[in-house]
Amino acid sequence: MEFRDLGAQYSALKDDIDAAIATVLGSGRFIGGPEVSALESELAEYVGVKHCITCGNGTDALQLALLAWGIGSGDAVIVPDFTFFSSGEVVSAVGATPVFVDVLEDTFNIDPSQIAPACALARERGLRPRVVVAVDLFGLPANYPEIRKVCESEGLLLLEDGAQGFGGAIGEKRACSFGDISTTSFFPAKPLGCYGDGGAVFTDSDEWAELIRSYAVHGKGSMKYDNVRVGMNSRLDALQAAILRVKLSAFAEHEVDDVNERAAMYDELLADAPVKLPRVPDGFLSSWAQYTVILPGGIDRDTLQTHLKEQGVPTMVYYPKPMHKQRAFDRGCLALTCLVTERLCGKVLSFPMGPYLKSVDFVRLADVLFRFWVTYER
Ligand SMILES: *Cc1c(COP(=O)(O)O)cnc(C)c1O
Repeated sequence: MEFRDLGAQYSALKDDIDAAIATVLGSGRFIGGPEVSALESELAEYVGVKHCITCGNGTDALQLALLAWGIGSGDAVIVPDFTFFSSGEVVSAVGATPVFVDVLEDTFNIDPSQIAPACALARERGLRPRVVVAVDLFGLPANYPEIRKVCESEGLLLLEDGAQGFGGAIGEKRACSFGDISTTSFFPAKPLGCYGDGGAVFTDSDEWAELIRSYAVHGKGSMKYDNVRVGMNSRLDALQAAILRVKLSAFAEHEVDDVNERAAMYDELLADAPVKLPRVPDGFLSSWAQYTVILPGGIDRDTLQTHLKEQGVPTMVYYPKPMHKQRAFDRGCLALTCLVTERLCGKVLSFPMGPYLKSVDFVRLADVLFRFWVTYER
């Protein structure tokens, strides 16, 4: 059993992917060009925003957003304490200070009630609160209606880190359309992944879109050799764009539905298990980057992981360490008390997931888990 079965996806899409790759090889256009432009239009349309700018990876995408907003020294950026390192790393990379806040146990996403207190802490320390980075953790959009209200009352910009959330939705509105700027990653194991690194930035603002296109290409001005600001070199190559166009059509057609079917199978399989299952609030749709449960006090996570591994079931711990405890932030971060995050870091476990997870794998999982719970309950 694979943790995320990219081989099964390739088998299903092989003819189209191979043909797309061959077209790029034959075209001689490897950077930029028609595949990249076409993908950007298709992504913008799928998400429902005006502009999509592709770039090198999801981390660069976040950093480009902060650069376009001119975030830097003296600025505070509010980030959930329970997330992948990038969400906070980019804040420090541009010279600003991350302020880590707790998440909600039910959704693993940022607790909107912590944003105002985080702003107060930042101001107390002489910093200007400028941005909230809200992460769509494990595929579930954060609570944007609530977050947006606080952003308005505190005068904050909203950056949606949709690296794991692409394909999710709240009502009719898709993930990567909730931020003033939103970003995603096409790392192979993300909901929409390519065969290398890739990322994208989404916004409705013409002004920010133009700035991001400039920052992504060495701060270019009217043309490539006119450099008006110090930027980055961050671009998606044509091969990845061509692969992503094939994958996006399968993603939109059936993969999001398929992965939600798999989530429902897990819910059923684990209904009587002594674990807390992931919850999707009414009106929300997850793209299930991960299926993550919370283990009860009595289960030793290492023991369970080892047992499952011996039986051929891979699992992962996302994430073992709160952001504010990462050594990289020892100097130069602020944090509120993050008790939920601390608890989750010790108790979460992610199971194999993906739209190509087979029903035989569920049978196997059910069997292995059942035998483990029986021993545990004794
Ligand atoms: C993967 C990920 C990123 C970074 O994406 P890369 O393409 O690996 O740079 C950022 N934020 C979150 C929440 C992620 O999961």
